[in-house]
Amino acid sequence: MKIGLINVNFKSEGPEVLVGYMTPYPLLLIGGALIDKGFKDCKLIDAAKENLSIDQIVKEIISNKFDIVFLSAMASTASTPDMLLICNKIKSKKPLVITVIGGIHATYMYEHLMQENKDIDYICRGEGENFSVSLIKTLNNQGDLNQVRGLVWRKNNKIIVNNEQDIENNIDKFRVGWELIEDWSKYACPTTGEISAVVQFSRGCPFQCTFCGQWKFWKKWRHRSITNFVNELEFLNKSKNVTYFFFADENPQTKQELWISLFKEIIRRKLKIHMIMNIRVPDIIRDEPYLEIYKKAGVFAIDLGVESAIQQRLNKINKKTSIDQNAKAISLLRENNILSIVQTLIGFPDESNETLELTFNKLKEWNPDLLHFYYVTPLPWTDFGIEITQDMIVEKDLSKWDYRNQILKLNNMTSIVLRKKIKMFKFKYNYNSNNFFRIIKNKNPYLQKTMVNSLFLILQNRIKKHNKNE
Ligand code: SF4
Repeated sequence: MKIGLINVNFKSEGPEVLVGYMTPYPLLLIGGALIDKGFKDCKLIDAAKENLSIDQIVKEIISNKFDIVFLSAMASTASTPDMLLICNKIKSKKPLVITVIGGIHATYMYEHLMQENKDIDYICRGEGENFSVSLIKTLNNQGDLNQVRGLVWRKNNKIIVNNEQDIENNIDKFRVGWELIEDWSKYACPTTGEISAVVQFSRGCPFQCTFCGQWKFWKKWRHRSITNFVNELEFLNKSKNVTYFFFADENPQTKQELWISLFKEIIRRKLKIHMIMNIRVPDIIRDEPYLEIYKKAGVFAIDLGVESAIQQRLNKINKKTSIDQNAKAISLLRENNILSIVQTLIGFPDESNETLELTFNKLKEWNPDLLHFYYVTPLPWTDFGIEITQDMIVEKDLSKWDYRNQILKLNNMTSIVLRKKIKMFKFKYNYNSNNFFRIIKNKNPYLQKTMVNSLFLILQNRIKKHNKNE
């Protein structure tokens, strides 16, 4: 069976401006699992990296003569319309090619997707590795599809939802199919030019923020062994020249001793790498005595989901953090010369000039190195999304549900005003003289280069967008 792993080309204007379209981790995991079970005829089509249009993707699928295609993309909700269009186009040209979609959106919206789209053959609910092996084995042996855990399929036009998969506790057993990447030079990070890879030390999150779907999807926090994970970093570093690692983890630092031991092992092996990851603010404070070890291991930047500068809002979204912790974490990173990238959620129905002023003033006071704003998005399977009614949604086009667009109706201002205010604040914040002096004074040339290039790329992207909209 010829298997295609298709990373759909979904573009938003998110952090990929700075980190680029990185190695498509979920598909590589599926590929690794399949290859190790003997299904070696797998090929990755990274349409995001190659910037392929939908028609070009379909052409690739047909010319490669795939029997089955697994479709995936970043932003699983916003990329769904593109994935469906690809399924439609494949089926209109080659009806026998089997189409499979997965990811968080499909895991929860499987019923709607299957009802509305006859061109999806199979949906995977949950994690992809065991599922894909079981599906391919069953199809190859013409076995009983009822036995494929996590599968949603059709029988005599009826939608069948198989039992959920068990949680796989031993995630060391999942090998990433790195050999599916043919040309590593295409994965250079835009800010530094280094070859980059997405890696994952752990899955899941023990917290339950109301707007987030990750903790529900992964069900339980699990981690790889340090040896297994650092072996992978070392392999990529020594044999593929990867020096820039982006952690796809939700909460890799959950267990302090384990987390610090991981850095110590990286240091012991003398890996010369750079790492960037998401970490909760209370854990930066917890790890204050170890931030030197973070840095020595190669952590150069940390994404902090501070989410809000308003305590009431933090409480409402169940973040279990305080605004004082946000301030402290950013200042600790500054003291240790680790870049702080701060993510703030905006666009709640009660957003107003006052809430924005409060947010902007706090952000200026905290003074992180880079800012990202995300528009709160009511994904229907999240606790936040469950409470949102249809009349509260102003943006119905799913392709806009990528956290970069206002989705909810605002009670106190228009979406356009909100967007303008955010853009203006970001511009003034990023391109002010204090920021430039701080960058110039930084003694670490790597951080200097990262920051200068980041600001340049953000500006270039803005100009491109502006010209496009003219
Ligand atoms: S937002 Fe972060 S901390 Fe909160 S549940 Fe999601 S992954 Fe966990």
